[in-house]
Amino acid sequence: MRAEIVAIGDELTSGQRLDTNSQWLSQELGNLGIAVGFHTTAADELDSLVDCLKIAADRADIVVVSGGLGPTADDLTREAFSLAFDRPLELDPESLAHIERRFASRGVTMPERNRVQAMFPAGCQVVPNPNGTAPGIDLTLERNGRTVRLFALPGVPIELKEMWTQTVKGAIGGTSAAPANLIRHYELKCFGVGESRLEEMLPDMIRRGREPQVGITVHQATITLRVTTNGKDDVECLAQAQPTLDEIRTILGPLVFGETGDELQDAVGRMLTAAGQTVACCESATAGLIALSLTESPAANASFAGGRITPSLQALSVYAGEASVGETAVVEQAASKVREEFGTDYGLAIGPIDESGAYSFAVADAKGVVSESSQTLGHPEIHRPRAAKQVLDLLRRRMMS
Ligand code: ATP
Ligand code: MG
Repeated sequence: MRAEIVAIGDELTSGQRLDTNSQWLSQELGNLGIAVGFHTTAADELDSLVDCLKIAADRADIVVVSGGLGPTADDLTREAFSLAFDRPLELDPESLAHIERRFASRGVTMPERNRVQAMFPAGCQVVPNPNGTAPGIDLTLERNGRTVRLFALPGVPIELKEMWTQTVKGAIGGTSAAPANLIRHYELKCFGVGESRLEEMLPDMIRRGREPQVGITVHQATITLRVTTNGKDDVECLAQAQPTLDEIRTILGPLVFGETGDELQDAVGRMLTAAGQTVACCESATAGLIALSLTESPAANASFAGGRITPSLQALSVYAGEASVGETAVVEQAASKVREEFGTDYGLAIGPIDESGAYSFAVADAKGVVSESSQTLGHPEIHRPRAAKQVLDLLRRRMMS
């Protein structure tokens, strides 16, 4: 069983508005155990809409259309349904009464234009819209020997969500073809190697067709491994995912720092809390990003004592009270200094990026100071978050050692 979402609107194809309805609907369909095979986005243009609807009906079992149900001349979903599936539009008196009542409740008479919102392709059912004028369409077709069910909902997100939740979700869940099936994703978060290297370490795991499927994505140097399973309930889904999750953890060891929703600051925060320890930081290259992430993380917030921002090597040297003995030595000194100043168990420091793109960072604790160096990769938007995570990861590894 496969679904397709068709999002309609010039505001989407022109890039003025992000299509969040498709994202939301995909998650909802996933929760019902229905995989979404296609997202189609189309402009408010009758011919293309007709094509899109026919293509969707040919390749999906469930089609959910968003948008184009308004009263204006650019709202073409009803007409496209009628042309694509050869269903003349007919007036639904109940819907007309609903629309008239909505206007009457605001003390105005219904403009003639809104009458089109009560027109439906012959043979469909009406999806009530408690929050707006435009009711939706629920049409079941026999096509190439298969049954296809198509829904059309307004583009306004609150209307669409309410109609989905009140009517469509139940209707799909009750379709005999729908499996009593959930789709669940379990994530492992990793840091410290590139994604190709990580993939090499997991031979044959990240391949299409594997059961359960393992996917890999990278965001700001954090790698997410995502294990996807199907089952009748959460217990069954987890039972299917567990052997794969265990295997990945065994292979990757300390490269895995967390699970769904985690970032390094959360992992570090949990470790600090468990040990009853605190941290402070002195930042050049990251300009406060480490402080921000520790402050924002509910897990790390209570363990974070404060920090300093030293925008240049000059400022860092003055703070560290250590001049021109090489940048790494200054950074190490700054880590000890900030630990001392804030009276914390750990002091973190990162120096500025030099002309060659190199920078150093250090962690100081009661046992001494450790430091590492790295090289920037590309744009500041990429290297700043990566550098901040490198420092947090050095702290994490220090705490585990
Ligand atoms: P109506 O809701 O009046 O029946 P409609 O279904 O065509 O008409 P639009 O008038 O095209 O909806 O859009 C209404 C609002 O919903 C606009 O603010 C639009 O940006 C927003 N919208 C439309 N489609 C989407 C989408 N796919 N994701 C997020 N927002 C959307
Ligand atoms: Mg529209």
